[in-house]
Amino acid sequence: MSKFYITTPIYYVNARPHIGHAYTTIACDTVARRQRMLGADTFFLTGTDEHGQKIERAAQAAGKTPQQYADEISAEFRKLWQRMGISNDDYIRTTEPRHKKRVQELFRRIRDNGYIYKGTYTGQYCVSDELYVDGAQPGDPCPTCGRVTETVHEENYFFKLSAFQDKLLALYANPDFIRPETRRNEVISFVRSGLRDLSISRSTFSWGIPVPDDPRHVIYVWLDALANYITAIGFGSSHAGAQEAFKKYWPADVHMIGKEIVRFHCVYWPAFLMAAGLPLPKAIIAHGWLLFEESKMSKSRGNIVRTETILDVLGADALRYFLLREVVFGQDGSFSFDALVQRYNSDLANGIGNLASRTLTMINRYFKGEVPYPSHAESEKPAHGVVRDKARMVIAECSQAFTDYQFSSALESIWIRLISTVDRYIVENEPWTLGEKQDDESRSRLATVLYTSAEALRIATALAHPVIPDATARIWEQLGLGDIKKFNLNTLTWGQLPQGTKLGEVSPVFPRADKSAIERMQQMEEQQRGPAVEESPTSAAPAAPAPATAAPPAATPAAATNHEGKITIDDFAKIDLRVGLVKVAERVPKSDKLLRLEIDIGTEVRQVLAGIAEAYAPETLVGRKVVIVANLAPRKMRGLESNGMIVAASLEGGKPVLASFLEDVPVGARLK
Ligand SMILES: [Zn+2]
Repeated sequence: MSKFYITTPIYYVNARPHIGHAYTTIACDTVARRQRMLGADTFFLTGTDEHGQKIERAAQAAGKTPQQYADEISAEFRKLWQRMGISNDDYIRTTEPRHKKRVQELFRRIRDNGYIYKGTYTGQYCVSDELYVDGAQPGDPCPTCGRVTETVHEENYFFKLSAFQDKLLALYANPDFIRPETRRNEVISFVRSGLRDLSISRSTFSWGIPVPDDPRHVIYVWLDALANYITAIGFGSSHAGAQEAFKKYWPADVHMIGKEIVRFHCVYWPAFLMAAGLPLPKAIIAHGWLLFEESKMSKSRGNIVRTETILDVLGADALRYFLLREVVFGQDGSFSFDALVQRYNSDLANGIGNLASRTLTMINRYFKGEVPYPSHAESEKPAHGVVRDKARMVIAECSQAFTDYQFSSALESIWIRLISTVDRYIVENEPWTLGEKQDDESRSRLATVLYTSAEALRIATALAHPVIPDATARIWEQLGLGDIKKFNLNTLTWGQLPQGTKLGEVSPVFPRADKSAIERMQQMEEQQRGPAVEESPTSAAPAAPAPATAAPPAATPAAATNHEGKITIDDFAKIDLRVGLVKVAERVPKSDKLLRLEIDIGTEVRQVLAGIAEAYAPETLVGRKVVIVANLAPRKMRGLESNGMIVAASLEGGKPVLASFLEDVPVGARLK
């Protein structure tokens, strides 16, 4: 029996799960389900990445311990995958003891093999990406996310990445190791330009796995996170069972990732493994990003589409089908509620759903719910042969497309080549007219048409099962075939539907969605976004909703009624922005972040609470002019009422910076 080991990236717990995470997970789940149907001993791993400075800071901002913070978000991911019926075999958390011990073992092996040394690092670091930015100057932006880098100066452990340049280039000579081609080329040119040794420990914060024998340091979060792929299946364990599992499943057949983490997976990870003397994964497949309604997502906006909304209204199969059909895997793709509902109706409700319900209903009506016996002579006629030939072709095409991770081509093949051919075939042969006639020829034609349609439906159902597992399992039962999970996809050929099979109970699998489905989803998302988070009144983007390092970001427009994230001048005019003068500023007791300000806005003096205490000492603010949103509804924080909001630039992982003017402006002046 062959084995197949596939992984998602482990998701960084700085953000709640959104459809970007769901996209990666759905793709992996589809591959895992298909491999199981092909008879492979499949292991599908996902989990959460929970260490690092960013989590430590986010937890602090939320008034929680890092562990509490990680527990909550990790549980949300797990709950979502369960609700979606994701078929992962394990769920690893990097804060689990099994992982920590085994990461230390990996560190030890790399060190014992001579690839780790102690040195001093002075340079720029992007906390958001947990990335060392070589060659950057203080104040330079991160080349990946554009956020301001922070200067770090530390004694660190270094990994001799430079020793692996040639070995990595030799590895990339295999064109299947990194896919798609564009990503492979990027990695090759990055490695060719020269590799510098990598700092793999931090000592300025403590939320991480201690370096073995030197617990003042914690292990670099990416070494910690990447190691999950081996720790989860038993690397470094002393248990015989775990060792056996590791031997059986490693190396991974596929690490599936988003394109933003290609470097970590294609450069650092194989180098760590080589240094530890371990086999390398067989392939790393990078997908593109999900954009929202064509517009580039905005990380700082923090407005993201939640998966739950789509599950509530259309179900998991609808989302799975849409993402894999609509987006060419490897390229960026676009998500919108309109497109989702349109796809759902055209391909699922009117496509496979309608094919199933009309075929099965006619078998019920004309053949008492038993799959008819097609006439041999009739079957040989070209009218029916067309469907059979298409089905054979689609089985082959689909197999190739899935093997190449071209999900959209596979689905296109099933839907455009097979399902639409059967639809046309049914229309042309009018079984409902044949059903009204009693002569032998009409009966045998009717039997052949319905058998052919049902057989094509069976084949489409088997092929589509990994993508839309729920609906296809139900169609399979309605066809009278029992549990689809027991079907071996390798054996799929035309003509296996047993004649005389008693159908199961027929019911629609994809009821049509009307326009209100779109509105409902938009409203649910809007309600979710709700008011700004307490403690961060100055910032439109509180600490939490930044995208995970390990997942593709997604974004939504600011309001459901607009188009492509734009507002009208009238919308903007609703916001009353005014110049105010700070008269009083003081700390709010028991809060690290909040200041209480009294601000003169010309017509009155307002009490405003602002989450800027970490960036501004109260005494530096008195007499300073600021911009305030004057018509914001009052909010209570820590028992105090805040009447308005101060405008500040929000820097990820950095401190807020108040908006101000170079020229002098009178108090109360309106900004427009
Ligand atoms: Zn960055």
